[in-house]
Formats: sequence, structure tokens, C-alpha cells
Amino acid sequence: MKAIVIGAGIVGSGVAYRLAEAGVEVTILEADRVGGGTSGISFAWTNSHGKEPRHYHDLNVAGMKAHAALAEEFPGQTWFHPSGSVAWRKTPQDREAMTRNFERLKSWGYAIEWIDRKRLAELEPDIDIDRVGDAIITYCPQEGYVDPVVYADAMVKAAQKRGAKLKTGVKVVDVETRNGNVTGVKGEDGSRHEADIVVNCAGRWAARVAQEPGLKLPLAPTTGFIVFTPPVATSVKHLVHAPDIHFRPDGAGRLMVRTNAADDLVSLDMTPSPTMPQAVEIMRRAAEVIPALKTVKAEAARITARPIPQDGLSAVGPTPRVNGYYFVVTHSGVTLSPFLAKAVTDEIVHNKTRPELENFRPSRFFN
Ligand SMILES: Cc1cc2nc3c(=O)[nH]c(=O)nc-3n(C[C@H](O)[C@H](O)[C@H](O)COP(=O)(O)OP(=O)(O)OC[C@H]3O[C@@H](n4cnc5c(N)ncnc54)[C@H](O)[C@@H]3O)c2cc1C
Repeated sequence: MKAIVIGAGIVGSGVAYRLAEAGVEVTILEADRVGGGTSGISFAWTNSHGKEPRHYHDLNVAGMKAHAALAEEFPGQTWFHPSGSVAWRKTPQDREAMTRNFERLKSWGYAIEWIDRKRLAELEPDIDIDRVGDAIITYCPQEGYVDPVVYADAMVKAAQKRGAKLKTGVKVVDVETRNGNVTGVKGEDGSRHEADIVVNCAGRWAARVAQEPGLKLPLAPTTGFIVFTPPVATSVKHLVHAPDIHFRPDGAGRLMVRTNAADDLVSLDMTPSPTMPQAVEIMRRAAEVIPALKTVKAEAARITARPIPQDGLSAVGPTPRVNGYYFVVTHSGVTLSPFLAKAVTDEIVHNKTRPELENFRPSRFFN
């Protein structure tokens, strides 16, 4: 069996690895570079903290477990950081929402616990604990974060070890079919690539790789904005979700910082800069939580879009129109990648229908 995987982000690289491991002759076609899409600008928090409905929550929990298993499969790996997360909320409205979420997650068997200020200060000694005040605080020990580009590189190399080919600089512009079966894809440079199976892992560009309307997945991407600090003298270890600011370690003492509010104030046509007002405001908020950041300026800012299928849920599986053409397109792709890679491989190679994917079929968009 010959398969083409379009896109070498965190999703496509994982799929390519599992397909190659299962004996498929895999070619990865990547328009730009490995991990150069959304995966390279992601908060990359492995979690199922606010994922509803239940089947989407379960899918994300499966992703979290798959990350832990994958880390064991690759001893010495450097991409997975099962750090745990802390969060606190202060206003009556926020407390009520947090308590509701806590109860839902607990009843679904999720690892979440209430902790007190003393424990928070032990976990994150650099937080200004006075500002936390009498907030209610949660700790999720099984959450973590991933370095998506490191992961993608490792998966591509693991796939290559099993015979896969990586072709960068090949932008797929059409999917070719004959008698209702996929036969391959066409590159912008006129190149043709034959395959029995084509897996579209092109993320937010997924609707652009085929020309026929019946093969275009409807997407509703949202913009994301992330700020990066220079290396700073703090010991932040967890994902930290304060009321108006989210941050986590990003290697070598750097922090990755974001807010939901700033996402609404940027667009893809802006040139991101660490001096733009949105970045300055993010750093101001971060310094309120970690006083050591008071004189620290952002070092970089990046803008990208989340690859979200139109109804907000993952799109995973075959298209109803053409045999052999699959989508694996999703938000939370960092959390989900290792699970989806295995599940999709089971379906494509082993002809085994995975019930976990039943609620996420792309066919819901094409009927
Ligand atoms: C601000 C922000 C925060 C996020 N936070 C989280 C989080 O905390 N946890 C989480 O799990 N997820 C998070 N996500 C979502 C997650 O990052 C994405 O779901 C994931 O990165 C998608 O990976 P992907 O491989 O599908 O897409 P991408 O990484 O975009 O990869 C797609 C690849 O396809 C290539 N490509 C595109 N078109 C073509 C073509 N025509 N031919 C060939 N190649 C092509 C691109 O160059 C790219 O390399 C966040 C996203 C954003 C933007």
C-alpha cells in the first residue's frame, strides 16, 4: 500500500510514523518545513480541561495517555513534559464556572484536585501568592506540554527509518482520482505523486489541497497570539492559568505567554512584533503574577490560526466522495496527535473501525 501524507505538522508526522511502522510505503509532502505551520506556534498544552461534549473529552484524554505511552516508546525523548498545571479564579462568576468545570471533570474521572495557597506556593514559588488572595485553586497532575516541532521531527525521522520519504517544498494543489478512487496528488510545481491512500493533514490549509468542492473540508479557524520571553530567572515548572494570563516554560528559562483577550485583537495580516501593544499588555499581566518579570520585555510574538473544522470538533476519517482520501484535521492537534495517528492507521491498514472516531467523521460535512 502506498500512502501520501500531506503536511508535516504534529498531526501529519504522527500519522506518517504509524503508517510507516505498519508497513505502508509513505511519502510525506510538505509545502514548507517540518513543524513550520500551526504546530510551531502552539501553546501545546496536553489536556482535556474544557473539552466538551463527552466524546471529545474522551478523545483528548486518549491523546494524553497516548503521549505518555509514546514517551516510553522513545526512551530519552525530549518533546514531552508531563509538568501538571495549576489554575486559580477569584471573582464569584469565575469561581462558579471553575467549580462547575471541576465537578464535571471529576465526575468524568479526570485527574483534578483542589489545592490551597500553601501548596500552590510550593509548586510555583515565584508566583506572587498575595495576589492569588483567597482564590480557589486547582491542580491537574496529568496535564503537560509538548515541544511540537521536536515531536514532529522525531516522528518524521522514525517514519524515515521505516522507509518513509519526506519531500519538502512540495505544495499539493489537487487530489487526483479515477472511477471514485484516489490515485495521487498534484504539486504546484506540476509534479505528480501516485498513491492508493492520501491523508490530508494540512491543518488550517486543509481545504486548499483539493479543487473539487466535495473534497474541501469546511473550516472555521480562529486566530492565536503567543508571546515569548527571553530566558528569565524564574523556576516556573507548570502550565499556569491565572485569571487573565496563561504561561508555561518554553526551554532555557524562556516562558510562553498568552491571553484569550489578545487572540481577538490580532489578525493574520498583522506583522507580529514583541513591541506591539498586545504583547506589552501580555507581559504586564504576566508580571503581576510573577514579579521577576517586572522588567522583562517580550523577545518574540507570533500570530497563527487554529485549524478548526466548522463545528469545532475533529474531522478524522475517510471522505464519502472518494475512496482512499482521508482527513485528519483538528484543533487540539497537539494533545490528539499520537492517539489519532494510531487510530487512523488501524482503520487504513488493519481495516479496523475505531469506535472512538465515530463522532468525528468528515462525512458529517458532506451529506
Ligand atoms: C495559539 C494556539 C494555541 C494552541 N494551543 C493548543 C494547546 O494548548 N493544546 C493543543 O492540543 N492544541 C493547541 N493548539 C492547536 C494545535 O496547535 C493544532 O491543532 C496543531 O498544531 C495542528 O497541527 P497540524 O499538524 O494539523 O497543522 P500544522 O502544524 O499547521 O501542519 C500542517 C502542515 O501542512 C503543510 N501544508 C499546508 N498546505 C499544504 C499543501 N497544500 N501541500 C503540502 N503541505 C501543506 C503546512 O506547511 C504545515 O506544515 C493551539 C493552536 C494555536 C494557534
